Amino acid sequence: MAQTDGLDCCGGADVPSTGLDRRAVLRAATLGVGAAAGGLLTLPGTAYAAPAIYNPFTAYPISGSWADHLARGSLGGIDFAMPVGTPLPACGAGTVQNTPNNGTGGHTVTIQHADGYRSQYMHLSQFLLGNGTYVQAGTVVGLSGGAAGAPGSGNSTGPHLHWHMIDPAGVRISPLVYIAEHPGGAAPRQVYEAASNNAWRALPISGSGGAVTGSAVAPIALGSTKIVYTLNGGRVFEAASNAGWQNLWTGITGAQGTALAALNLNGVKLIYTVVDGYVHEAASNNAWRNLNSGISGVSSASISVIQLDGVKYVYSIVGGYVHEAHSANAWRNLNTGIPASAVAAITLGSTKIIYTVNGGSVYEAASNAGWQNLWTGISGVSGSTLAAMNVAGVKHIYTSAGGYVHEAASNNAWRNLNSGVGGSTVAVLTVGGVKLIYAA
Ligand SMILES: [Zn+2]
Repeated sequence: MAQTDGLDCCGGADVPSTGLDRRAVLRAATLGVGAAAGGLLTLPGTAYAAPAIYNPFTAYPISGSWADHLARGSLGGIDFAMPVGTPLPACGAGTVQNTPNNGTGGHTVTIQHADGYRSQYMHLSQFLLGNGTYVQAGTVVGLSGGAAGAPGSGNSTGPHLHWHMIDPAGVRISPLVYIAEHPGGAAPRQVYEAASNNAWRALPISGSGGAVTGSAVAPIALGSTKIVYTLNGGRVFEAASNAGWQNLWTGITGAQGTALAALNLNGVKLIYTVVDGYVHEAASNNAWRNLNSGISGVSSASISVIQLDGVKYVYSIVGGYVHEAHSANAWRNLNTGIPASAVAAITLGSTKIIYTVNGGSVYEAASNAGWQNLWTGISGVSGSTLAAMNVAGVKHIYTSAGGYVHEAASNNAWRNLNSGVGGSTVAVLTVGGVKLIYAA
């Protein structure tokens, strides 16, 4: 069958392999007996609650409309043009099922939503989650593909994503029509950047690759390029300001909770996260291989990392206390004796300074004071959100109170200042003297 459009996937039949003649499938779908859906049979007249669906792909051009698909004899779908390897967020909560080489659809992810609705993404280059994984809206479920002849592409002749939904009766429906008729599907929380030189106005990080989403955030600077790491569905993604913040999976998987930290050490990008209770380190110069640091028992959602004279220091919470491990002692875990639910670290000269949250208040402890815990006067902290940085010798603390990020500085007696930036996960950075807040 001729394919005149390089982005056209579905001239023939992007139908799951049912062994049925396509016209029979079309007839069956019209009658609502469910054959076109690949097997889910339901009783007519059953009442279903509609799942909350949003469109994760608004940043991409539609290269094939629903009508285009029907005109080609497809059962329907929407094609979005996007580069191979683009992360694909779930359009709604549900259970993931991967179907490799699903006929002309190629590698297919099916998200089984509540009450019988399903969504299918086709022509993937890579699955990311195991069968049966339950995901929330926005969790990345796979990477797009579609390059002609590539593994998983099926009959696709150009990079793109094909998306359709299937209703409980087994009839293929347009996600865009569904969303128009069922508003209220919530987009997941997104990463925002706020800068001190724009009065802390929060700007969503998005570009040609779509929104950067995640449950945790850790930024670094590499020259003048700002790099943000986020955790999404147990995987670490990297987005850079010089690439339009396009979200790229780093290959680091298995992360638990929302613990994430990053460091630029002599141009090598380092990521720290918690996997199976252990702190893992991955570096850009080892193809992001996940390495167990040997730091165990980490139960919290908080990691912080600094470097002093080339030695990497990692801070995390073990058994309710801050522990320090450093690369010069083979990452041996040392209890600082400081109780905390979150930790953030900075260096001030050769002194290492730790900030912790304990009972809604922020405390400061310094290595040159034997890690003695001192209340900073900052109270009302909700959750375990905490970040810190050294700005020209002035110590700055960022935390979340009442849903907003607050800033306090050592040169203003640690007075709590509302930045106006919302978010429950926060990280900070300076680039060219401008203070930057990243919140998710
Ligand atoms: Zn298609």
